[in-house]
Amino acid sequence: MFSTNVLSVISYLLAGMIFIFFLVYTIQSILEHEQRAALRALILAILLPLPYAFFAFVSFSGQQTILTILIAMTVLTGIYLLFPFHRTRIDVDRIPAGRIDERDIMFSRRLYEKGTERYRTYYRSHPEYKSIDDGFRANPGLLGKGSRFYHPLMFAAANASFISVTALHSLVENETISVEPVHLPSGQVSRFIKNWAKKLGAYSVGITTLRDYHLYSHVGRGPHFGREVQLPHTVAVAFTVEMDKTSLDYAPYGPTVMESARKYMDAGAIAVQIAEFIKQLGYSARAHIDGNYRVVCPLVARDAGLGELGRMGLLMTPTLGPRVRIGVVTTDYPLLTEQGREEWTVQEFCARCKKCADACPSKAISFDDPKEINGVVRWKIDQEKCYTYWTEVGTDCARCVAVCPYSHPDNLLHNLVRKGLKQSSAFQWMALKMDDFFYGRKPTPRKPQKYLE
Ligand code: SF4
Ligand code: SF4
Repeated sequence: MFSTNVLSVISYLLAGMIFIFFLVYTIQSILEHEQRAALRALILAILLPLPYAFFAFVSFSGQQTILTILIAMTVLTGIYLLFPFHRTRIDVDRIPAGRIDERDIMFSRRLYEKGTERYRTYYRSHPEYKSIDDGFRANPGLLGKGSRFYHPLMFAAANASFISVTALHSLVENETISVEPVHLPSGQVSRFIKNWAKKLGAYSVGITTLRDYHLYSHVGRGPHFGREVQLPHTVAVAFTVEMDKTSLDYAPYGPTVMESARKYMDAGAIAVQIAEFIKQLGYSARAHIDGNYRVVCPLVARDAGLGELGRMGLLMTPTLGPRVRIGVVTTDYPLLTEQGREEWTVQEFCARCKKCADACPSKAISFDDPKEINGVVRWKIDQEKCYTYWTEVGTDCARCVAVCPYSHPDNLLHNLVRKGLKQSSAFQWMALKMDDFFYGRKPTPRKPQKYLE
C-alpha cells in the first residue's frame, strides 16, 4: 500500500487534471458561444476536484483508506470507460435493394403542379402519395411568403444562393470535351484533385468506384425528367463542405436555410470546377449538384470513405457529423479509388442516442432500431412528414443536424470525445449523458432576431 503522502500527491494531481479539463471545456464552450455548457463546465471544474483536494489536505485517521478507495475508483472508472468492453454491433444493410427513382423523392414531387400532365401521370401510378403531397402543396412552401418563419431578407438571401447554383446547371449539362486526352499517372491526378478540392473549400474528399446502386434509376428534375439514368463513368469523386455550426444553432429559423443554400452553392461551384478540370484533361466528367443529380450523394460519399449513414439517413462524417453538404463528380478518368473502411460506431451510438428523434418538430425520425424496409435493414426517416414541416415553416429546418452530438466543432476537445465513442459502450453512454447535461436533451434554438444585424 502507498504511504499517505504519495496518495495525497496522486490525489492532488487528479484534482488538478480534472480542474484543468473542465476549465478548458469552459473556455472552449465560451468560444463556441455555448453559454449553458460553459456555465455547467465551470461548476464541474469547481466541484469535481473538491473531494480529491479535501481528502488529500485534511489529516484524519482513515485518510489513507479513503484516498486509496477514491484513487482506485477513479482509475477503474477510467479503465471501464476506455477499454473496448460491451461493443454492440448494429447491423444495417449497406447496399440498397435497387436503384432509387429520383421522381419519388420530395424534391421532385414538390415540383409536380396540379393540372399538368406530369402531375396526372405521376399520381396515377402513385396514388398513395397524392393526398400527402396535395397537403404540403397547400402550405406556403419552402422559402414561401406566409410561412411561419418567413423573413424577407433571409429568405431572399437563401433564394439568391439557390438561383446561383441553378445557374451552374448549364455547365453540368455541357458534355463537350475539346482537347485530346492527356496521359498522366492516376495517382498524380487523384492527389491533385483531392488537394485542389480542399483549396477550393472542400472539407474532406474521397474517390470510389462508381457502382450501379449509386445511380438514380430515373431523372426526377429538370429538362430530362423521366429519362433513365445512364452514366458512362466508372469513378466518383465525393467531397463534403462544412456547414457553419453557429448558423445551424438557429435551426429551424431562417439562418439555417441561408447556410444550407450557401453550402449547396459552394459544393456546386467546387464540383463544376473539378468536372471542368477533368474535361480539360480530355476525359468525360459530370458534376452532381443541387437540383441536378444523377447519383445518390450520401451513398457515394459513404463508399468513398467520408462517413457512415446514421439514424437520420444523412452522411455522418467522423469530425463534423451530419453538418456537411456533399458534392460529387463522376468521370471515366481512371482515378485511384479507395475502399471506405466500414466504421459502425456511428450506428452503435445512434441506436442509443435518439437525440435527433427527440428534437424533430415533425416527429419524422424513428426511435426504433433499424428495421427491414423493402428488403433492406436500415433507418429511414418519414420524408413526407419532414418535407411537409418545411413547407409550413419555410426553411429546411435542420434541427436534427443542429442537435446531433457529432455536429460539435472539429477541435481537440470534441475529437477526444469522438475517439472515446469508438472505444466502448460505457463511454458512449457517458458521452451521451454529458452531451445532454451540457447542451440539453432538446437544446433551445437561438432566436434569429440579431442574426447578421
Ligand atoms: S442525433 Fe444521435 S441518433 Fe441522431 S444521428 Fe446524431 S448521433 Fe445519431
Ligand atoms: S429536418 Fe427537421 S423536420 Fe426534417 S427530420 Fe430533421 S428535425 Fe425533423
